Amino acid sequence: MGPGPSDVHPRVLDALGKGTIGHLDPYYLELMDRMQQMLRDLFQTANRMTIAISATGSAGMEAAVVNLIEPGDSMLVCVNGVFGMRMADVATRAGAAVTQIKRPWGEVFTVDELKQGLAQAKPKVVGIVMAETSTGAWQPIEEISRVVHEAGSLLLVDTVTALGGIPVEVDAWNIDAVYSGTQKCLSCPPGLAPVSFSQRALDVILHRKTKVQSWYLDINLLANYWGTDRVYHHTAPVNMTYALYEALRIIFEEGLDKCFARHMRNHQALRAGLASLGIGYAAQDGHQLPMLNAVRIPDGVDDAATRSALLHRFGIEIGAGLGEFRGKVWRIGLMGYSSRANNVLLFLSVLEQLLAEQGYPFEHGSSIAAANAVYAT
Ligand SMILES: *Cc1c(COP(=O)(O)O)cnc(C)c1O
Repeated sequence: MGPGPSDVHPRVLDALGKGTIGHLDPYYLELMDRMQQMLRDLFQTANRMTIAISATGSAGMEAAVVNLIEPGDSMLVCVNGVFGMRMADVATRAGAAVTQIKRPWGEVFTVDELKQGLAQAKPKVVGIVMAETSTGAWQPIEEISRVVHEAGSLLLVDTVTALGGIPVEVDAWNIDAVYSGTQKCLSCPPGLAPVSFSQRALDVILHRKTKVQSWYLDINLLANYWGTDRVYHHTAPVNMTYALYEALRIIFEEGLDKCFARHMRNHQALRAGLASLGIGYAAQDGHQLPMLNAVRIPDGVDDAATRSALLHRFGIEIGAGLGEFRGKVWRIGLMGYSSRANNVLLFLSVLEQLLAEQGYPFEHGSSIAAANAVYAT
């Protein structure tokens, strides 16, 4: 129940252990095609260039940035947590002239703030994180996309934690480049980074004056392997593809809407339970992510001792606060296969025990009752 990796579904672990075949084997190519189609369905896009980069989510970030940015290009990065900071760093390393706009941790960006930033920086690309895993803030994308495109810029969105937990509508929202990772709401081991590029983004990449700085992440080269040519580029992590394929099948067997509703319901139950203990959220009201519950550690409760007891006595992992939130916030994940009523109820009952041991005052049993009241509706 941390900020990822989430629990991996047993079917995904089984798939991971199947026999390794060649990365140009006809069966493997068929699997790639079918996985690409499921990724398009998950990103809600018709983008041809929808693939899985052979590395973790950060490589998805790097792929999106280095393909769109040439040295000297202007990029506007929205920073309200760790992953916005990372994107600004990646863009600087790629040679972009980076302008950062900032919000306090836990808050999200408004359209007006974007308009101001766009007017000043006149960026080629705007980068923003939809689900900030360090703060639990849910950034709306659709309205921001409109002003970004009115200004003639491209929109790059981090959906590492968002994808599979809340709706990500790449075509409806006009997103130009998007990336994710396998170990958050897809409940697959870490190791692949689904990405998708719009036709507008591909046209920009095609007309670059310089070569993409990264050979490994160059979308032009990757397109020759993922497209009909099937030219060897690098040896695909075959077994990770089995795993992601199975993870996506599980999501579509449940159905996207039901999957999102399940994430929301378990979040609401957890939130009601925590509220009854006097524990509130770190992210702005109305913008709290269902899969990443960043909550304020109550006064008088020992951060490290509580997390250690959760892990060593009960086998439950939750995340510590990062950066400004260190020692102040817990990050409780309800991602993918981990988003289950069992986990919510077990966590609340164990937390009550640990709070009672530390002399924290609350009405015993209240969190379970509050969570169950949500489940009863
Ligand atoms: C986890 C995460 C990343 C980085 O992914 P890795 O798989 O750790 O490389 C990037 N952005 C967000 C929002 C994340 O939650």
